[in-house]
Amino acid sequence: MTEVLSVTSECAPLVKTGGLADVAGALPGALKAEGVKMRTLLPGYPAVMKALEDPRVVSTQAGLFGGPARIIAATAAGLDLVVLDAPHLYDRPGSIYLGPDGRDWPDNPERFAALSWVAAQIAVEGLGGWQPQVLHGHDWQAGFVPEYLHAMGGTGRIGTVLTIHNIAFHGLADAGKLRTLKLNPNRFNPDGFEFWGRISALKAGLMGADRLTTVSPTYAGELMTDAFGMGLDGVMRKRRADLTGIINGIDEDVWNPETDPAITPYKDAHGKAKNRAALRAELGLPEATGPLCCVVSRLTEQKGLDLLLQALPTLLARDGQLALLGSGDGGLEQAFRAAARDAGVAVRIGYDEALSHRMIAGADAILVPSRFEPCGLTQLYGLRYGTIPVVALTGGLADTVINASPAALAMGVATGIQFHPVTADALTGALTQLCDLFAQPAAWDMMQRNAMRQPVGWGPSAGAYGALYRGLAARS
Ligand code: ADP
Repeated sequence: MTEVLSVTSECAPLVKTGGLADVAGALPGALKAEGVKMRTLLPGYPAVMKALEDPRVVSTQAGLFGGPARIIAATAAGLDLVVLDAPHLYDRPGSIYLGPDGRDWPDNPERFAALSWVAAQIAVEGLGGWQPQVLHGHDWQAGFVPEYLHAMGGTGRIGTVLTIHNIAFHGLADAGKLRTLKLNPNRFNPDGFEFWGRISALKAGLMGADRLTTVSPTYAGELMTDAFGMGLDGVMRKRRADLTGIINGIDEDVWNPETDPAITPYKDAHGKAKNRAALRAELGLPEATGPLCCVVSRLTEQKGLDLLLQALPTLLARDGQLALLGSGDGGLEQAFRAAARDAGVAVRIGYDEALSHRMIAGADAILVPSRFEPCGLTQLYGLRYGTIPVVALTGGLADTVINASPAALAMGVATGIQFHPVTADALTGALTQLCDLFAQPAAWDMMQRNAMRQPVGWGPSAGAYGALYRGLAARS
């Protein structure tokens, strides 16, 4: 058994704002077959504290980054958890990252530094007799783990992995916080964790972790480029030898059209008809001859949905329809609400897990026009549900969809449509191609069958993580 502590700020189904939660929630189960025992260190947010089963306080600290803290071992939703219960940091209502004003909590650097600190402590001192061989951190929230491990004398004995789910979030703090964050001032330089005069938790992790992973091979390559590296492409190039791209899987029990309790279950794509009719009825969309397209997404610049607003008239002109579920940027929310005045467009602003299942089961196609997309999960849900993905040719979207090129159609292997560059014109072209293919039953059936057959589970990727951990554990 390889013992691993996963260090994460979110974990489905307990607390989720995006794909990171899905990955953190699914990996422990997927890794069991690999001989890996993974425990998960999570902040004690109210939603997490409420969900704990069989909680046991394993240790207490009088002062952890400004207040008392307890470390609680527990289970919840089948996960083996270590929870950092520090009310002064985590006992807050609403979003886990944002205050009531919609801005980052000002003490976010301290909140997640504390999580990283405790991870390093557990690795060095053990927790109730248990000790991990590897610390696997996720995103900037776990960025300081290697720094703290070094300060506590654990470097070399305990392996560290940092996974980049999105390099856009750097975890920046003012240089004045060096002391509060318990960081070594000698490492505040461009070869350490300084990023243009500020402290960067992500850079600390990228410079210090033994191994780096990201969530698709294409994104791993993109991270080393000026266009996608978000100012850290030089660091990524420096760490090239230690970086691998491991594609995310999806939870095949949660996303299974044959057993999904949120829908009328189906084995093949013909079974989508009932779900399509139900979705149209639910959303007030009329019957139509073109494809019913869906979007399930955060509404942010990254996701390229402003391009969809521009391309939408072309879809509607072909009697296609759009059903969108999302929330985020106020301007985009408003623009989609306005677009919903058209009879062929239905928009639901909010976060709704069950509706996301009904949309993906009922729609003919799912649109993911992201400007960058480390992996993307919704196109994988689409594949599994026979809902044809129309995606930008970037990151994990490039790795998981087989474009309906003339050759792929002739060979009978296409699973979706990819467009490039990520512009409104190219998306318009892709939607036109979608409508053309939708009107050709033989080609459409073939794509749906291919999509539903494509492996989208964790198997091979769990194997890759297992090999990575074993390599690190063997070194120590
Ligand atoms: P990201 O992590 O950048 O948001 P991903 O595609 O990797 O993008 O993961 C997004 C996850 O969040 C998916 O599981 C998706 O179904 C879910 N999701 C996004 N927005 C919503 C929403 N409004 N309602 C329900 N689920 C959503």
